[in-house]
Amino acid sequence: MSQLIYKNYISGEFKSSDNLFDDISPYDGSIVARVSEANKADVDLAVRSARKALNGVWSEMTLDSRCALISRVADEIDNRFDDFVSAEIADTGKPLNQAKTIDIPRGAENFRFFSNYIKSMGTELFDSQTHDGAKILNYSIRKPKGVIAIIAPWNLPLLLLTWKLAPALAAGNCVIAKPSEETPGSATLLAEVFDKVGFPAGVFNLLHGFGPASVGEYLTKHSGIDAITFTGESSTGSEIMKAAAPGVKALSFELGGKNPAIIFDDADLDAAVNGTIKSVFSNCGQVCLCTERVYVQSKLYERFMEKFTSQAEKLIENWPEGDASNFGPLISQDHRKKVLDAFSKASSDGGNLITGGGVPEFSDKRKSGFWIEPTIFTGLDEDSEFMKNEIFGPVCHVSQFDSEDEVLQMANNTDYGLAAAVWTTDLKRAHSFSAKLDVGIVWINSWYLRDLRTPFGGTKLSGIGREGGHHSIEFYSEISNICLKL
Ligand code: NAD
Repeated sequence: MSQLIYKNYISGEFKSSDNLFDDISPYDGSIVARVSEANKADVDLAVRSARKALNGVWSEMTLDSRCALISRVADEIDNRFDDFVSAEIADTGKPLNQAKTIDIPRGAENFRFFSNYIKSMGTELFDSQTHDGAKILNYSIRKPKGVIAIIAPWNLPLLLLTWKLAPALAAGNCVIAKPSEETPGSATLLAEVFDKVGFPAGVFNLLHGFGPASVGEYLTKHSGIDAITFTGESSTGSEIMKAAAPGVKALSFELGGKNPAIIFDDADLDAAVNGTIKSVFSNCGQVCLCTERVYVQSKLYERFMEKFTSQAEKLIENWPEGDASNFGPLISQDHRKKVLDAFSKASSDGGNLITGGGVPEFSDKRKSGFWIEPTIFTGLDEDSEFMKNEIFGPVCHVSQFDSEDEVLQMANNTDYGLAAAVWTTDLKRAHSFSAKLDVGIVWINSWYLRDLRTPFGGTKLSGIGREGGHHSIEFYSEISNICLKL
């Protein structure tokens, strides 16, 4: 069988490269495709082509025509739904059901949502007077920010790329997107979709490659880029900030988390256990919103641990299409090493391993994949490395607490500030406690429910800015105020 080659998409044309790298499947280590790494000249060409479209055909299009084209992307993703699902599974190893119900439909929905949402947005107008009584009107107009670089991670490849791409295009920008080198498949299909639905050349460009000394760095340092929107590790965000500083480029950052779940004595135990199983182990713990620190109030602790551990041990590590499969592998060999090192450090720092901690044994090709066991620790110090650093794997630590003040202090004792889950049936406490958490998103008696209009993002090391609804559109827009003396 001939090898699949993923190409770049620049100025409306697919372009391969002499520099190919492997796209590896996490479930059995096989090669999914070979990927064309773009070079500096490709980045230059993509930026020039995006600028040309921005100053020409794309800005001349009416809002209605632009949005109609954007929503056709959603329709075409639906038409090629199975291809997208297969590409996402091949690159990430996530269970079929997850790709089918979350990654791909939500990826399509981002285009539908923002192509409608932008039409409901207005701007401001202030009606006032000068000291001598003349009337003045101040009103603002919205313009696209320009040429946007989108740099995306591997954990939810299509969903997180389109979460940026759809509002950027709806606001009238042109885009150069770089998917993660680990997951180039669904982004390549997306370029085929853009080509098919007839986007003008240069509006959407796709470049494959790595971060340092590759496309990521070339893009973030490029003088022709007006803004950078990035989702990934906090340390990468810091590098991108440095690269963008000389050009004082606008930045939107969705970064890492060390998210707490707080379970009070009055919680519905089964709901809290089921919800925490999801928030710790979904996508093999590789969601920025996943819980890595669980705090359970003392009276409920024993019963919670019994049920929680027993459910974690029942997760089914199977091929993505396998029966009842609900737990996939980690993304790569390197990432598994990092996660296993964190387990060893937790044990040597005095943590009690309650379950998991190792690599599952298989007798089929999964032996060559990057599987790992769902893992639970207790007994670690709040200041230990495990409790401070994001691990991004299927693991949590469970601590006990007595009072609300005590758990608030523990939950906020982190450099991150992305998300938290609070489990309680006391409505007053649910509201007042949630407001005191230093995070961008709190779920009460739930996790990962999303309304695309709401602000999404983190405080501290977890990011800069908010995405969702008008928050996204604001980032991708420049507002000009026009003052008219009548
Ligand atoms: P990563 O930072 O390693 O890579 C993300 C992207 O940045 C990739 O495309 C990579 O090629 C690129 N990159 C790497 N170094 C770069 C550089 N110096 N300059 C420019 N680009 C560079 O992140 P990852 O491992 O792909 O994703 C996992 C991380 O993402 C976790 O920390 C997770 O918490 C975070 N994340 C956050 C959110 C959120 O919404 N807050 C969502 C998903 C993932």
